[in-house]
Amino acid sequence: MHRGHRIILLAHCLLNVNTRVDGLARFSGMHPVVAVLHESGVGVVQLPCPEMLAEGLDREPRPVEAYETPGFNALCTCLADDVAVLVQHHRDAGHRVDLLVGVEGSPSCGVSLTNVGAGEGPWSSGDPTVRVPGCGVFVRALRERLAPLGVAFVAVDSRDDDAGVGRVMRALGAEEGSADG
Ligand code: SF4
Repeated sequence: MHRGHRIILLAHCLLNVNTRVDGLARFSGMHPVVAVLHESGVGVVQLPCPEMLAEGLDREPRPVEAYETPGFNALCTCLADDVAVLVQHHRDAGHRVDLLVGVEGSPSCGVSLTNVGAGEGPWSSGDPTVRVPGCGVFVRALRERLAPLGVAFVAVDSRDDDAGVGRVMRALGAEEGSADG
């Protein structure tokens, strides 16, 4: 069988939910979109999980402003640079890398929704957060590097009835024939 030459970039926890903040898992291992992508014949690249790399596994849910630190921004920039190199290598080989799948609501991997502190004052540990329009810190760094290369961004959403599988597959279809590498 020949190779399909098409690659999708997936947020780390979609292939390994164990990196998520304890209590925020909505599936046991891999997100259901992985099985659908497998059926579609695309290759998958698992992106790094910046929150796990920065904070480990025993971390609490935080809003995006808590991750807007020089250190975390530097980490995301460095990781995004590596991803851009990877994408460029695939493109140089004639492979299509035209879609990145994030996680809606995440302060790092949210694509059109993230979370901010819900209170009136500055957020502090243990305070609630609320979803708002915006992207996560890692996605922002990735978008700066990958959007000019023609990579589109979509995200799964645990609040969708199908956990966001449909929107990913629609984006996958929308990109059919629209990418040049
Ligand atoms: S930082 Fe991204 S990859 Fe890591 S757990 Fe959060 S959404 Fe998933």
